[in-house]
Amino acid sequence: MNAYLANAEKTKEVIERHGFAFRKQFGQNFLIDSAVPEAIVRAAELTKDDTVLEIGPGIGTMTQYLAEAAGHVVAVEIDKTLIPVLADTLAGFDNVTVLQGDILKTDLGAIIDEAGGSVKVVANLPYYITTPIIMKLLAQAEGIGLITVMVQEEVAERIVSGPGSKAYGAISLGVQYYAEPEIVRSVPPHCFMPQPKVASSVLKLKRREKPLVTPQDEAHMFACIKAAFLQRRKTLPNALSGYAPLAVSRDQAAAALKAMGLDERARGETLDLAQFARLSDRLVQER
Ligand code: SAM
Repeated sequence: MNAYLANAEKTKEVIERHGFAFRKQFGQNFLIDSAVPEAIVRAAELTKDDTVLEIGPGIGTMTQYLAEAAGHVVAVEIDKTLIPVLADTLAGFDNVTVLQGDILKTDLGAIIDEAGGSVKVVANLPYYITTPIIMKLLAQAEGIGLITVMVQEEVAERIVSGPGSKAYGAISLGVQYYAEPEIVRSVPPHCFMPQPKVASSVLKLKRREKPLVTPQDEAHMFACIKAAFLQRRKTLPNALSGYAPLAVSRDQAAAALKAMGLDERARGETLDLAQFARLSDRLVQER
């Protein structure tokens, strides 16, 4: 039986034995507090019928817990120097497949098909690409029903926030369109090696059966949202007309808001997703 890695002594020992050097560009902060992977695995609702996709297994700290709780674990790690380390630390588990590669370039469909149509995602995400990873998982892979990930606390707060809050923005709307987000717990910097500068949160995203709203043109609605928050201090007519891909005039945007019963000086941060969908539908008709 492999000794659990989730403590500072064992992590140091594995790293030194393999001559591993942390690579800052890969966002490597390894877990060294066993309470955290335990809490993550509990939140991930795993059973032996599940295949888990783990993004960035590192030296395999959380992978060990996942292998015990799930039927199969597919772990995608970008850092080639970690592959021999994982072969060592996961040697006692016959239900783990390690793939070397970049998750943003990985064919998720192939992994999901291989797993029989659905997988759960669990990860302590590399912070430099949190948003593109989460959006790829939600927008490109319906077979992913539940995502349980560690992210920076500030990002978790942005994802769960609603209209009127300072933290509310394009990422809140992008995620909430596909999923119900929930912050499970906060995780302080001392639970990682090396310690990050900021606190982290475990975030759970439960995919909705269907997206929260049904705009006529999804891409157009997201372009409106992007425009609104690119210049969040501007009124919506100014922000939308200033974003060339939308090809909308200030007057058209103001008229659309008025027809919806909204103030034409409203800012994007006051609109919820249903209102963005309605606004987009009106502007689409004017194209
Ligand atoms: N899961 C380990 C843990 O909790 O101790 C490591 C987490 S560490 C925050 C992030 C991991 O993601 C690192 O192992 C890093 O090399 C890996 N990584 C970074 N960018 C990646 C990418 N684009 N695709 C796959 N893995 C990546």
